[in-house]
Amino acid sequence: MTKIRTRYAPSPTGRMHVGNLRSALYEFLIAKHDGGDFMLRIEDTDQERFVEGAVDIIYRTLEKTGLVHDEGPDKDGGYGPYVQSERMKTGIYMKYAKELIDKGEAYYCFCDKERLATLKTEVVEGKEISIYDKHCLSLSKEEVEANLAAGKPFVIRQNIPNEGTTTFHDELYGDITVENAELDDMILIKSDGYPTYNFANVVDDHTMNITHVVRGNEYLSSSPKYQRLYDAFGWQSPVYIHLPLITDENHKKLSKRSGHSSFEDLLEQGFVTEAVVNYIALLGWSPEDNREIFTLDELIKEFDYHRISKSPAVFDIVKLKWMNGEYIKAMDFDTFYEMAEPYLKAALKKDFDLKKIANMVKTRIEVFPDIAEHVDFFEELPEYSVEMYTHKKMKTNSETSLQVLKDMLPILEAQEDYSNDGLYQTLVSYVEEKGVKNGYVMWPIRTAVSGKQMTPAGATEIMEVLGKEESLRRIRKGIELLEQSV
Ligand code: GLU
Repeated sequence: MTKIRTRYAPSPTGRMHVGNLRSALYEFLIAKHDGGDFMLRIEDTDQERFVEGAVDIIYRTLEKTGLVHDEGPDKDGGYGPYVQSERMKTGIYMKYAKELIDKGEAYYCFCDKERLATLKTEVVEGKEISIYDKHCLSLSKEEVEANLAAGKPFVIRQNIPNEGTTTFHDELYGDITVENAELDDMILIKSDGYPTYNFANVVDDHTMNITHVVRGNEYLSSSPKYQRLYDAFGWQSPVYIHLPLITDENHKKLSKRSGHSSFEDLLEQGFVTEAVVNYIALLGWSPEDNREIFTLDELIKEFDYHRISKSPAVFDIVKLKWMNGEYIKAMDFDTFYEMAEPYLKAALKKDFDLKKIANMVKTRIEVFPDIAEHVDFFEELPEYSVEMYTHKKMKTNSETSLQVLKDMLPILEAQEDYSNDGLYQTLVSYVEEKGVKNGYVMWPIRTAVSGKQMTPAGATEIMEVLGKEESLRRIRKGIELLEQSV
């Protein structure tokens, strides 16, 4: 059996779209599931779309996500160069384009902009493209030679007959047959000498021995043309897996507008890399059971591309948040703290024991920015309504709360030990003395020291972090508030 070789072939055009990361992940998983090789190829033939720094983003993302490539521009595996602009300099694309010309499968085209502007246009997938009329196909060999010798700018086009059909196979979509008349004579080599993606992907996938190609289904409509190139060369095409579109909640293509269409967006929004990778794996693929949490190693083991679905995958940020929360809960504390610290520091300027606070919120957040809303009351006691002291289940109201706070104030003033345990002992002694339920005392104290209905910890843990002075100040404030209301 031939060794599986897959490639991730990004164009360095900016941030890493979630869809691209999914292609990379699936390519990686297909290779690693079978002990194959995963290769990185940089597709930079479209110089107009090139964005400075985008290559770094590609490397950083692969490294961070653990999609380690076996070969690439930085790791020679004998199939280089791995950057298309460098491959071009070796003359490889021109060589194969000329072979197609010799076979009558391609031809030189010298039409200038003015002539091309007069051609019929058609809207294909929202884009207006002009349909080339094969004008230059009728040039004689001599005319072509003369034009070339005169240095006339040219492109090389694929020659697709107007009759017959072309069939190609996709693993998800099955056999797809199209009328050749519907296929345009696409450009293989541009006037700047660069190959188009359409040509380079075929030459490269073949010469780099790629066995499986995973990419977005926006390439599905061009695939018959690629198939014709494979056939013209007498090459076997790789296994094609065209992935369904990723949509937002409104079933529109996931775009920048959603605010979370790229890997970088998600990191900036406090998502954990492992959770993102896990979630993206499930955007179109599912295991045999209903399991949802997978490490990368587990994905390698379980991944079977035959289980990829054709239906559009909805990017559900709510689900991703839930999954992220599960990863945060499972994280060891030191890793968590390292990631949480900047968020804690942004929310809390005063001198608190941030580790203690981090411990309180670890199981309560889904993404790191959630930290702020859980801890803001430490910094500043919020304005709160006296009604918060009334709690049916705890059997508390303004009067009972006022009594508890007034009783506790001198005790807490006299108390030296402001540790959670010490404070808890003190509060529980009072509970026992009065023969009441815990909540009857804890609720008003917690309300007074936090001013919030929901807190990431109980009254005494909060007081431990606030310290004696601030705790007492807040309890006195509570008393004041309650006295005004009863
Ligand atoms: N360079 C193409 C892109 O970034 C790759 C498509 C493919 O995987 O063949 O969309």
